[in-house]
Amino acid sequence: MAKIKNMSMLSQIIVAFVLAILAGIIIGPDIAVIAPLGDLFLRLIQFIIIPLIVSTLIAGVASTGNMETLGRIGGKTILYYICTTFIAVTIGLIAGFLFSPGTGVDISSASDAPEATETDGIISVLLNIIPTNPIESLSSGDILQIIFFSIFVGIGITMVGQKAEPVYRFFDGFAEIMYKITWVIMKLIPIGVFGLLAPIIGEYGLSVLMPLIKLISVVAVACIIHALVTYSIAVKTFAKMNPLKFFKGIAPASLVAFSTQSSSGTLPVTIKCSEDHLSVSQKLSSFILPLGATINMDGTSLYLSVAALFTAQAFGVELSIGQILMIILIGTLGSIGTAGVPGAGLVMLTLVLTTLNLPLEALALIAGVDRFMDMFRTAVNITGDASGAVVINASEPNLDDDANDSNSTTR
Ligand code: ASP
Repeated sequence: MAKIKNMSMLSQIIVAFVLAILAGIIIGPDIAVIAPLGDLFLRLIQFIIIPLIVSTLIAGVASTGNMETLGRIGGKTILYYICTTFIAVTIGLIAGFLFSPGTGVDISSASDAPEATETDGIISVLLNIIPTNPIESLSSGDILQIIFFSIFVGIGITMVGQKAEPVYRFFDGFAEIMYKITWVIMKLIPIGVFGLLAPIIGEYGLSVLMPLIKLISVVAVACIIHALVTYSIAVKTFAKMNPLKFFKGIAPASLVAFSTQSSSGTLPVTIKCSEDHLSVSQKLSSFILPLGATINMDGTSLYLSVAALFTAQAFGVELSIGQILMIILIGTLGSIGTAGVPGAGLVMLTLVLTTLNLPLEALALIAGVDRFMDMFRTAVNITGDASGAVVINASEPNLDDDANDSNSTTR
């Protein structure tokens, strides 16, 4: 016991991870009795998400100072996220063509086509970012609306100056409290990983995975390649950071994402790892990471392209060049619109298959094993978010000076 206590957090999580897989395989479905441990952890991290984002973002924006700085950081962040998502979709396509995961799949078990899900048009998606009632956004947990609201409160504080100082100090202090709570909850990550992962492995077992093992492997390997190659190059080139340091620093969050299959749920851990291990400034992480957890889904975009190719191959559909280009476009846009919750990528796949005129029956095949692909894609999603935070952080070395300059005039 004392030995376990002395292990580093990362080693404890890795041990929990391996034990969860072994326990799931050996004990089987009965391991579900430990599921409440996983739920306990999940609820604990979920309960801090909204207050953490609101307080850190308001305090962060208020101390960053001006619209110009904010616009510049926002622009760079979105550009970085779109570029890496585009690379991920392309890697997914190449892997899908090289390994043909859908060729020879038995499609007889595919049931009737599920209903296509209706999705909003782009204009209403964009308009929807502006909350009509911020209190409602807070209680429903709409992260983009919460980001919008918090940024404006932060800007308002800077514009008002002296009179708004107590409000700034309140959110700054509140943010510190939320960081402390996050720190306490992070100690439970190993228990959470074990409690979340073992029941999934126990429930599914290897027999469920076997028929689609090729699809799962292609998604998993392509996700790992994307993470290792794209993020290594990005952090090395733009932030002069050793990729090993990057992966080691973000690993606890990646493993939590793997176990929870939720980018949003992992957010407090992603923020904590980025600040503590990767030296990302609190001002930047509080903005870049919630935005990333909502719109940047490299793993999901990669999965969407592999799954679209899988469907075409399984049902013997020849794809035209136009359709292939469409996969790139819709895979990128679709992943931006995917929520950071378990299984959201599968819902988005409906839209992708409908747009490409591919048979929706494929969803019935994929749904059975989607959970496993969700693990890999979510881990990549949050690793990509953190790589963005590291890169943007390196590109803003004078952020604190900017903030001091503008604060001296406004507050
Ligand atoms: N579960 C993923 C996430 O939270 C989204 C997806 O299903 O692809 O990032």
